Amino acid sequence: MTKYSPDKVSHNATEEDIDKARENYFKLQDAWKVLSDPDLRKQYDAELTADTLKYDTPADSEVDISELDYNTDDNCYYHPCRCGGEFEIPGSNLHLLSYCNTCSLSIHIIDTSKKK
Ligand SMILES: [Zn+2]
Repeated sequence: MTKYSPDKVSHNATEEDIDKARENYFKLQDAWKVLSDPDLRKQYDAELTADTLKYDTPADSEVDISELDYNTDDNCYYHPCRCGGEFEIPGSNLHLLSYCNTCSLSIHIIDTSKKK
């Protein structure tokens, strides 16, 4: 009888390998589950959308065009920001979101005089 059992050694090694393989397999399974399950996928997409929306927030405030200071020299509207900075809005691009020149606040220009 021999004490050395190649079968047992290789069996032990294989078990470790199987554990690792199994771990990887379940990780893949989780990812696959999300992508293949319509409900999970919907949830995943919704979370993505929520993240996207965070970066696409509406203006911090709305300012009526009548409150803006118009500079005829450069055809720009100006509006003071509460940070002490200033919003500069080109007269040709009034509908765009305007960002303060010193902070990250944004304003949206509205024209109440044109609203019915
Ligand atoms: Zn500001």
